[in-house]
Amino acid sequence: MNTRNIRFKSNRVRDIITLFHEKLDSMYGGGEVVVFLDMLFEAFLGWDKVRLLTSKEQTIDQSDLLRFHWALEDLKQCRPIQHIIGYTDFCGCRITVSPDVLIPRPETEEIVQWCISKFSIFNSQFSILDLCTGSGCIAIALKKTFPQAEVTAVDVSAAALEIARQNAQNNGTDVHFIQADILNGASHLSPLTFHLIVSNPPYVRESERAQIQRNVLDYDPELALFVPDDDPLRFYKAIATIAKERLAADGLLVVEINEVLAEETCALLKDYGFTPEVHSDFRGKPRWISANLNP
Ligand code: GLN
Repeated sequence: MNTRNIRFKSNRVRDIITLFHEKLDSMYGGGEVVVFLDMLFEAFLGWDKVRLLTSKEQTIDQSDLLRFHWALEDLKQCRPIQHIIGYTDFCGCRITVSPDVLIPRPETEEIVQWCISKFSIFNSQFSILDLCTGSGCIAIALKKTFPQAEVTAVDVSAAALEIARQNAQNNGTDVHFIQADILNGASHLSPLTFHLIVSNPPYVRESERAQIQRNVLDYDPELALFVPDDDPLRFYKAIATIAKERLAADGLLVVEINEVLAEETCALLKDYGFTPEVHSDFRGKPRWISANLNP
């Protein structure tokens, strides 16, 4: 098979793997290409890693080969692997993604896992609010872990909410979705108080655009990423306003943050009467703040 400069030597799995490494290692690094191959073989053929490792001499159908061919073309164009296969796995939930939603990140997964560790499974009758939910990943993962919790999720984008609703359904979770712009407040939210308010709002400043990778810039929705340089914490002000009113007395506010704005975000939360604590992600970067309200 020969299209432009991509040529698979044969339909053999080994040759597919070789060509992917040949064409992509210099762009992504060999380790990342192994991850891509694992994801593609699972998505296209339903193979797990072990099956892939033990099936290198096997040949695949011409129609399947064509899918690998297009995936390789797309990856060369920096299209995210999650868009190529149409989903990503997040805290054990399969989350459909599209250009209308931010692709869930491992950093956010870490935050959700931390939240889960803070709330006991034996005391799961509590209420959770997820602001700027996007694909719904945070709300859905929490609802799946705490089936008895009442989970509400808000986003401004109707298109994102459509995906989020589909994700909730696919994962067998019942999340209450609301379309609202939190910058205009959140007067119609129910219930009245929440034990956990969590958010991964837009926090990348326009001036940081140049540092953002092409696969993010070209494929993630701008609405979910960028904030103006003259008011980079605008969403945190809105979140703090809502949380100050709606957080239960012993409740917890958890927000993902821009790693270079940790101090400013803490200062802002203190101004609103919260006691913030900064947490670093697995890369060692300040990535989220947990806060409770001073009594
Ligand atoms: N962490 C994301 C990125 O680096 C940004 C997410 C956000 O703005 N909330 O692209």
